[in-house]
Parts: sequence; structure tokens; C-alpha cells
Amino acid sequence: METDLICMGCGVPLQTEEEEKLGYIPKTKLSDPDRDLVCKRCFQLRHYNKQQPVSVDSDEFLNMVSKISQTDSLVVHLIDIFDVEGTLLKSLPRIVGKNPILLVGNKVDLLPKSTNQNKLKNWLLKMAKDAGIKVLDVYLISSQKGYHLNELAMRMETERKNKDIYVVGVTNVGKSTFINQFIKRSTGVKEAITTSYFPGTTLGFIHIPLDDKSALIDTPGIMNKNQMAHYVSKQDLKIITPKKEIKPRNYQLNSGQTLFIGGLVRFDFVKGDKQTFVCYFANELLVHRTKLEKADSLYEKQLGKLLTPPDEETLKTLPKLVKQSYRITDEYTDVVFPGLGWITILSGNVTIDVHSPKGIGISIRKSFNR
Ligand code: GDP
Repeated sequence: METDLICMGCGVPLQTEEEEKLGYIPKTKLSDPDRDLVCKRCFQLRHYNKQQPVSVDSDEFLNMVSKISQTDSLVVHLIDIFDVEGTLLKSLPRIVGKNPILLVGNKVDLLPKSTNQNKLKNWLLKMAKDAGIKVLDVYLISSQKGYHLNELAMRMETERKNKDIYVVGVTNVGKSTFINQFIKRSTGVKEAITTSYFPGTTLGFIHIPLDDKSALIDTPGIMNKNQMAHYVSKQDLKIITPKKEIKPRNYQLNSGQTLFIGGLVRFDFVKGDKQTFVCYFANELLVHRTKLEKADSLYEKQLGKLLTPPDEETLKTLPKLVKQSYRITDEYTDVVFPGLGWITILSGNVTIDVHSPKGIGISIRKSFNR
């Protein structure tokens, strides 16, 4: 139910239906005389100093965040290093206008420790550049483990030149975790609890004071629909989401061999010399190797059994697999399954068929190890 009340924290209309959306307040709290009328997101921030993720749809998102272009500020764009294609906002230049951008790759703890951080940084810079996004610099952090947060905080302080900082990112990149860490570390902790909505500021933006004149401003996220996470059950999501450092798994394959990633995607090595394929997926997600000629019947018989996830619940909604063929010439090329992981083709000069659920866009990219 949409109410005609507004949140005293961020100014959005209060509603009692959708917990992940802006302005949610539990029905029972609406009539609680001891409670200020604030949405759950503002309530959590005030009382627990905790930032709560929310998301909005794409038109609403663009409408809201484009207001940043009319400000004079620093922008921190947070992306998920495990899903760069799905989380790097191509519309960022339009959203932020002339304001300077720091690009921040979060969840770096998930990549193998042996990853060359300099190469990774340059690789991200290039991805941003190719997408038409000009950035001041790139930082690789882990909001969860606290890696490189101090360096980033210091850089934010020098770059902002006493102005506001806007934090922008797609849902699930770890924006709330990042802001919580930031609040914990900054001196603005006490003030954060009493933050309230100032007329004239954009509805739904949360201001966390940095000093008397400026604030760190959290903006709502946008859902990334081209992601495996939208098609699987809660249980399966736990399995496919990496929680610890990924151990790359090497497969020496001859042409005519197939890899199944659980039963969610299928990768056929159709043509090319024997070579190594490196799988980067959550350690709990099993990879099955089989002969290409047996792959169809294995899938038919074992989907949801040996080839799992999908579990029973996911099977009810998972779109059918669709096949796409690629001819890959370059060495160290990644085939990326958004939100699930990727396979690095080491030598190149291969033809592959990739089968993925309809709606999940595969992308091909240069590996950060090249
Ligand atoms: P938001 O939607 O962008 O606000 O994202 P959240 O802060 O709610 O985080 C989304 C998920 O990513 C949660 O399961 C977090 O525990 C996880 N997460 C956030 N930061 C990190 C990180 O640095 N490393 C890892 N491995 N996971 C993270």
C-alpha cells in the first residue's frame, strides 16, 4: 500500500508492500506513536548505523541519479570485480556530468591472491575507457575484509576538495557494506545517526555528514537483470555466489569435449588444438567434464541431479539454454557468464559453443592475466 505519508529521513513516500524498495515501513510501525515516521532504510541507519540496500527500476534510477550532473561533487562508482560487465554503469558519464569519478572495484578478496593487482587495475581502466567512462583513478578494495579502504578514504578526502561525495552503484555490488565501513571509520559516526531529510535534496538520497558543509551521499541502486542471480532459488544463489577466494580450476581439453558448470551453463570445445581452459567459479560450484557427443543425453538425464544447481525450485523458472558459437583467435580470452564466473581460454584459435539460459548475455573479453 502506498501511503500519503513521507519519510522524515529521506523524504520518499512511505509504502508497506515491498521491503527492498524505497520508502518501505512495516505496517505495524505506521501506527506506532513512539516511532518517528521513517522508512526502514533510514531507521536502520539512525538506530543501528547500518546502511540498508534498496533498489529502483531503471527509469526511476536514471531520473534520480542524473541529478548528480547538476551538482559540483566527487563521484565514487562502485562495481563488483567479479561481475564487471554487469555492474559498470555505461550511462555514468550522462549521470555524473562533468564531475570527477573514482572507479572502485569491490570484492577483490574473491580473486586469487596471485592476481597481479597492477594488471588488474590497468585492465579495469581500459574497460572503463572502452565504455566511454573517464576516471581519475581505479581502486581495488574489499569492503568486507577492509582491504585498501584507508587508501581510498584518503584519496576521496583529497579529491573531494570539501565538496559532497556521491556513491553510485548497481544493486549487490556491496554499496551498503562499503558505506557501513565508511561510517564506522569516519568521524561522522554520531551525526550519521541523526541525519534527516533536508528539503531541496533529492528524495531517496541519504546524506551522511562529512563535516558541517558536506556529506557522503548514498544513492539507490539499480537491479542488474542480466544476471544469473535473478533466475535461481535462494539455495542455489548461495552455491553460485563466491564467498571466499576463488581457486581457479584448470581443464586440459581436446576438441570434442564439454564442460558443464553445474547444470546452469554448458561450454563445448568444438575445434582447435588441445589446451587449457581455466574455470573461475565459486569453489562450491561443480564443473563436469564430458564428451561433446554425450553432452545432450547427460543434460537430459542428469539436469537437477548430477548437474546441479539448478535445484528443483530453480528448475521451475530457469529459461531454456540457447546456443551461441564463437571463434576465438586471441590467447588469454575470457568467456563471461554474468554473475556466475568465467572461463579463460589460454592459447586461443578455437571454436566454441556456449549454451546459457535465455536472457543471460554472454560476453567475451581479454583476460586480466594477458
Ligand atoms: P548493495 O546492494 O550494493 O548495497 O550490496 P550489499 O552491501 O548488500 O552486498 C551485497 C552482497 O555482497 C552481500 O552478500 C555482501 O556480503 C557481499 N559483499 C559486499 N562487499 C563484499 C566484499 O568486499 N567481498 C565479498 N566477498 N563480498 C562482499
